[in-house]
Amino acid sequence: MEKLLRCREFGTDCEFEACAETADDAMQIAIDHARAVHGLKEISDKDRRRAKAAIQDSFCVPMGGYNLW
Ligand SMILES: [Zn+2]
Repeated sequence: MEKLLRCREFGTDCEFEACAETADDAMQIAIDHARAVHGLKEISDKDRRRAKAAIQDSFCVPMGGYNLW
């Protein structure tokens, strides 16, 4: 089982899903994506907590790696 975090959890209208072997990695991928793609400068603690709570167990589909953006 891997960990999946949707970009939507940061309040975006985006289909991006961060998937990684650990919740911390999924969180980092999602934050990097949100910064790079959505221009989010700061992710608040509140957003981090909400995102962390929304992380799901999932099976990642490797498409040239886990990072699909
Ligand atoms: Zn996104």
